[in-house]
Amino acid sequence: MARYTGAVCRQCRREGQKLFLKGERCYSDKCALTRRNFAPGQHGQARKKVSEYGVQLRAKQKAKKYYGVFESQFRKYFEMAERKAGMTGENLLRILESRMDNIVYRAGYAMSRAEARQLVLHRHFTVNGQIVNIPSYLVKEGDVIELRTRDCEKIKGSVEKNAGRPTPVWMTADRDNFKTTVTRLPDRADIDFDVEEHLIVELYSK
Ligand code: SF4
Repeated sequence: MARYTGAVCRQCRREGQKLFLKGERCYSDKCALTRRNFAPGQHGQARKKVSEYGVQLRAKQKAKKYYGVFESQFRKYFEMAERKAGMTGENLLRILESRMDNIVYRAGYAMSRAEARQLVLHRHFTVNGQIVNIPSYLVKEGDVIELRTRDCEKIKGSVEKNAGRPTPVWMTADRDNFKTTVTRLPDRADIDFDVEEHLIVELYSK
């Protein structure tokens, strides 16, 4: 499986926004964006005029990085979103939020989506009683996600650290039994990601 191996914080600096890719560090004053809030590279601090295409491209790149998805898969999600009824941009975000790695992260079992992806790959979770080890698996309304390996210290540590983080309104969490139920798929207002999704739709519609 392909994965990004470059400098992680550089991606946030490129987008000028925290993308929460590094877990605990993102919430501390060690965050690279807090220290150097300008684009990486020699000309990172130069003022640049950005074209309409450039603005649309940055919105798409930001969404890909935030959810840890590569171009081909992102494009497939866009095509799926187009086929569904309703607003394509909102559908796209809903699909991205339904990914198994995102659900594990949102439920508080991991400190970042990258960590959640690894936990899913290592068969730590079931969906409706069946082991799911595919990070891109899309959950549906009513699915129950359960932790199989309750003695894993790393997961227990993440659950403790994330105890203060609220569970999204579209899920219910039974923390004692390590079970999360997706009660419904999220609306746009439920998704706390600061992106103008209509720019992505405009980019792909050219
Ligand atoms: Fe982004 Fe986290 Fe790095 Fe800050 S610490 S720049 S939020 S990945």
